[in-house]
Amino acid sequence: MNKKVIFGIIGFFLGFPISYYFQPEKLRAMLSMTDYLQSIPKLASSDKGDFLTPIIFSCLISTAIFVFIGYLLDQNNKNVIVAKPQKRYCGNCGHQIDEDYPGEFCDQCGHKLD
Ligand SMILES: [Zn+2]
Repeated sequence: MNKKVIFGIIGFFLGFPISYYFQPEKLRAMLSMTDYLQSIPKLASSDKGDFLTPIIFSCLISTAIFVFIGYLLDQNNKNVIVAKPQKRYCGNCGHQIDEDYPGEFCDQCGHKLD
């Protein structure tokens, strides 16, 4: 799965707690965040629209923002040139040569390194 999908899912679920802040003050005065999240299914099924709208709204916004962040991260990953230093091995004895070994010859067997 790419980051856009993962972030989109995270964003969607974050939309629920975020929607709390878009609810009318009256509702927030009655319910704590925890109570609110627990009563979403109950409230949503008996709703006339004014309760669900903030949830849909914040889920969409939050999903969009997170997909965008995921998109940016995907782009960054693409732009990074993977410049892992190549490991060097002696062609004769297979001894691993240190990256910064300055010599021309294998320090193990004396074979000339390419
Ligand atoms: Zn060698």
